[in-house]
Amino acid sequence: MTVTVSVLGSGSRGNSTFIKTGQVRLLIDAGLSRRETASRLESIGEDPDGIDAVLVTHEHNDHASGLKTIMKDLAVKAYLSQGTMEALRAEDFAMNGSQLHTIKAGEPFSIGDLQVVPFGVPHDAREPLAFSVTCDGVKVTQLTDIGHLPDDISGWLAGSQVLILESNHDLEMLRVGPYPWTLKQRLIGRYGHLSNTAVGRFIRDRYDGGAEYFVLAHLSSRNNHPELARQEAVRALNDRGFSGGRVEVTRQDRPTEPIRL
Ligand SMILES: [Zn+2]
Ligand SMILES: [Zn+2]
Repeated sequence: MTVTVSVLGSGSRGNSTFIKTGQVRLLIDAGLSRRETASRLESIGEDPDGIDAVLVTHEHNDHASGLKTIMKDLAVKAYLSQGTMEALRAEDFAMNGSQLHTIKAGEPFSIGDLQVVPFGVPHDAREPLAFSVTCDGVKVTQLTDIGHLPDDISGWLAGSQVLILESNHDLEMLRVGPYPWTLKQRLIGRYGHLSNTAVGRFIRDRYDGGAEYFVLAHLSSRNNHPELARQEAVRALNDRGFSGGRVEVTRQDRPTEPIRL
């Protein structure tokens, strides 16, 4: 076994993904509280304090609110873009042995046996990133909080065995739902969040079909339903003849069953 992956929680009330290799225990995002992160790690059989490094995609609360306490309580290496660092004022955080590292889109780096590629995404934050991480030939890519999928994005996703992709809202549920007009506009805008329909379109037009696990993430609790998101993705995968991979849907309130590759 080379890599373990569990999305500890995903949605507008907190995002965090756990990835473990032979040498590194990593979080992508720290949007759950320190305590909640610990209890969810424990619930999947991991050391509740076992975090060596944290990659932060952007400064929004649902991705970064737990970072400060994690850096104070545990000695972790945190990796953030300059814009995210400034927006969070991360340099003012108390660090008991923790370290801050500034990273840039398109500039790969290593953490132990893990290679990380950060890439830029269109989202309404200062300098948002998404990440591909690779260990021993196993590639995991997570892409959430992205308003649309620019042409060059398929290249970053290609060859991923685990692809965690945002499927935020159902367009019809959002349209008839309770959100104020301005918030609806933000969500569907080019710097907002990806809809189920956009995921279906990506699969039909640009997806390489290579993922063993296709994980739908950051679902809205108001404007989406796990079955709608799943059906849209499954339909598109079937249309392309890609029936080999498993489709999983993340939850806000509990971790996904750990994937071991
Ligand atoms: Zn978010
Ligand atoms: Zn965001």
